[in-house]
Amino acid sequence: MEQVALCQCDSYDKEAVWLAFRQGLDLLGADAYLPGAGQTVFLKTNLLMRKSPESAVITHPAVVETVAAYFRERGARVIIGDSPGGPFLPGLLKAVYKESGLVEVAERTGSELNYDVSVIDVPSVGKERANTFPMVKAMVEADAIISLAKLKTHSMMMYSGATKNMYGVIAGMAKVDYHLRLPEYHDFAHLLVDVCETAKPVFSLIDGIVAMEGNGPSGGSPRQVGALIMGQNPYAVDWVGAGVFGMNQDDVPMLAAASARGLLQSEEISVLGKAIADLRIADLQLPDSRPIHFYNTKLPRFLSDWLDNAIKPRVKVDKSRCVGCGKCVSHCPPHAMTMENKIPKIDEKQCICCFCCQELCPENAIQIHRRFLGRFLMEHNQKKHQG
Ligand code: SF4
Ligand code: SF4
Repeated sequence: MEQVALCQCDSYDKEAVWLAFRQGLDLLGADAYLPGAGQTVFLKTNLLMRKSPESAVITHPAVVETVAAYFRERGARVIIGDSPGGPFLPGLLKAVYKESGLVEVAERTGSELNYDVSVIDVPSVGKERANTFPMVKAMVEADAIISLAKLKTHSMMMYSGATKNMYGVIAGMAKVDYHLRLPEYHDFAHLLVDVCETAKPVFSLIDGIVAMEGNGPSGGSPRQVGALIMGQNPYAVDWVGAGVFGMNQDDVPMLAAASARGLLQSEEISVLGKAIADLRIADLQLPDSRPIHFYNTKLPRFLSDWLDNAIKPRVKVDKSRCVGCGKCVSHCPPHAMTMENKIPKIDEKQCICCFCCQELCPENAIQIHRRFLGRFLMEHNQKKHQG
């Protein structure tokens, strides 16, 4: 059986987080196998962009501090970091660490923040999608990676947790290139599994105390959930996280990909602590980009193509929020965006619906919308999802 601990924790009060983490470790018997004295542990946090802890975009510093203190007490050297969206540069890391509250966490726990931007090519486990991955050297060279993820909805992949968190092992702008090479989300899901299998985190923990719903991973809203989820198998941990979000394996392409490869067997998961039903969010707001399931593939091709185009999500710029920074343009994999009069313009024909622009806009100025038929069917699907 794959064991996953689901522990209730209703606030970021340090004592409460520690008690929930300790409960999870005890339920899993994790003290017996986690690294300790003489070893270097890399805490791979979710630091997507320069955001405060209250935004629910990043792993909360109280969770990072709890885990860092635990490994420090075991005698390990602890390095904290991520490769956020954008170029992998020390100056950008400094700004992200400062805003996230991790500078103080490192000081209090005697941990190090990673400023080493060296990159190393690592052979991929799944050779069909990439032969090697350009990975953050400090993570690769650590004795163990611990994935400290954030529970969030995700506009492209529907859900973000332990597996998606490992995509930050890929250094800097290389992350954007894979979207262009693998625009179809099932392919991209397999790539995420490849990256996770290549990086091999030894333990995964999801901060779902305050999660993100709606247009995650950066443009959604904080949602109180009260869950810390942890275990050795990142896909099993995500299966529980998705369950808390009211999603099943088929709703989440990464889980479907892991299952198809024999890395996730849901019937073999033993959930310890709380039951998923105890913490499930029945009325979770899904991303506006969510797939619409309403017709089968037996429609004539011309009709299904027309419907696909009629209902597909589109991105648009909210001019009242846009500050003209150009980050969306520089991160658009197919170069479907250009700046015109300091406002991004989108070529819909070139857009591959990867939502990188929405994910990395610091002002939440990129919005997802659908035309009437798409909006109507999306609402219908949401009601069905909520039962
Ligand atoms: S990233 Fe956001 S704020 Fe910056 S140009 Fe694009 S839409 Fe405007
Ligand atoms: S416009 Fe946005 S959603 Fe479309 S391809 Fe570019 S980054 Fe992706």
